[in-house]
Amino acid sequence: MVVRMRVNRSKTGKRRSHHALVAGRLITCECGAKRQNHRACPSCGKYNGRVTVDVVARAQRDAARAKRREKAMRESGQVSALDKVADTDKEKSTT
Ligand SMILES: [Zn+2]
Repeated sequence: MVVRMRVNRSKTGKRRSHHALVAGRLITCECGAKRQNHRACPSCGKYNGRVTVDVVARAQRDAARAKRREKAMRESGQVSALDKVADTDKEKSTT
């Protein structure tokens, strides 16, 4: 018995020849950091020569958010989970 719609290995290989993943293109920002093309720089907040993202305000907001989350965790009594969250937030803010 023959499977009528069966795709042979050659056809499968030809289809999959276009499935390879390509690494995203990174360019060097004017501040020296690597950033994605057509995206605002995550380290200085500049896009096309002007500041579009307030990096300082964003850092402050993230810190306030982490603090609030930590407080909520402490109040709910999840102290073991609190340590992990605090550690990850510290790592995020330093990078
Ligand atoms: Zn930059």
